[in-house]
Amino acid sequence: MAKKCTVLDERFVEPCKLLAEAAEYGNPRGKQKGVYAWDLHIGRERSRTFFGVKSGEYVERGIAFNFCPFCGEKIDAPTYARKIEHSPANANAKGE
Ligand SMILES: [Zn+2]
Repeated sequence: MAKKCTVLDERFVEPCKLLAEAAEYGNPRGKQKGVYAWDLHIGRERSRTFFGVKSGEYVERGIAFNFCPFCGEKIDAPTYARKIEHSPANANAKGE
């Protein structure tokens, strides 16, 4: 496990140890609160992996982390890759 988060291919966040340990896995649905790893697919192919939180106003859609809350690395690249359904609220905030 890397000391700091890294972003592979501008689409896949590889988490640092703390983020990996803190996150829940399995693509949350509905009003489940927590820190989550989103692992999105197009068909069978993995398209993006990123981390974020579901809480408060964003308990349903979730909101992605721009920076890792633990190691401080910038991990927003996958959130403004191609827009995909079920993306968290800020997933396309910076446009295409
Ligand atoms: Zn990190």
